[in-house]
Amino acid sequence: MSKPASSGRNDRSALKALNRRAEAILKARPAYREMLDFYLTVFRCQIEWRNRLVVHPEEVGVEQVRESLRKGTPLIQHYDPGVEPQSLLDLWVEMKEVFRRGNEVLREAVEKIDRAEEAGDFAPVSWLSEQRPERWELVADASGRIGIEESVLGALSRAVTFPHWELVAESWLPQDGLEEWRRFCCPVCGGVPGLVENRKGQSGRGGISASPRRFMHCSFCGSRWVVPALKCPACGSTKEGDAKYLFTAEEPELRIDFCKSCHRYIKVIDGDKISGRVHVGLELLTAAHLDAIAQDKDLSPLEVCA
Ligand SMILES: [Zn+2]
Ligand SMILES: [Zn+2]
Repeated sequence: MSKPASSGRNDRSALKALNRRAEAILKARPAYREMLDFYLTVFRCQIEWRNRLVVHPEEVGVEQVRESLRKGTPLIQHYDPGVEPQSLLDLWVEMKEVFRRGNEVLREAVEKIDRAEEAGDFAPVSWLSEQRPERWELVADASGRIGIEESVLGALSRAVTFPHWELVAESWLPQDGLEEWRRFCCPVCGGVPGLVENRKGQSGRGGISASPRRFMHCSFCGSRWVVPALKCPACGSTKEGDAKYLFTAEEPELRIDFCKSCHRYIKVIDGDKISGRVHVGLELLTAAHLDAIAQDKDLSPLEVCA
């Protein structure tokens, strides 16, 4: 199967939405300007490249998707995502230039990777092809071998793999997932969700529904899916009084949800207060200060899927 269609018009509106949201964030959180200026280049590049990326995800009908989700296993365990190595290589070469221009740390990281590749110690494309949410050790191993911080290497690899996996996720799963899946890990790749989106009015498919909905967002493949509202994603507690949250008056659209029982937390965005679709990379990047607030309260991020 060929990659999902993505029209130039969609890409233009995605770029517009990204710029609009970034402007609103910078007005409220100007401290992120320098970081955001750079990452917007990465996000724009990902959107602009969507039509040039090549993925051939195994063809999966909606009944097969339902069947797989009923079994409780993410789609990646049953089907081939068909991400083409050449496509990863092409975007990697492009992204290297973006990172080289980013700052000293990133330029140095790219140079170290190039040297490791020349010496035959590291093969970026096969390494990128193997990236999966459950294979976190791939980044840790390579970071030790090449001498680059894990967070930097992780950011580099996600910049290249994310838009590929986003196309796979779009091909396999309707925008809001399916009701068969009420779990907290990603139904496509099995990743730990990075962000929660709460919505009151809209059903998410353009229709109006009266009941509020809670979505999880995957930062590995960009999927969004519905989850039960009053259940802890880490320990599964549904006990009254366990679900707590932290927020500040200055940032009405952001919140930290945490569980009194297991002390795990996740970042939450109020989807009704932002226009357009949530860009998970942009939101996570500019909500990093919430981690410090959570750690002050002795909370730990969600790490494993219950
Ligand atoms: Zn995912
Ligand atoms: Zn819990």
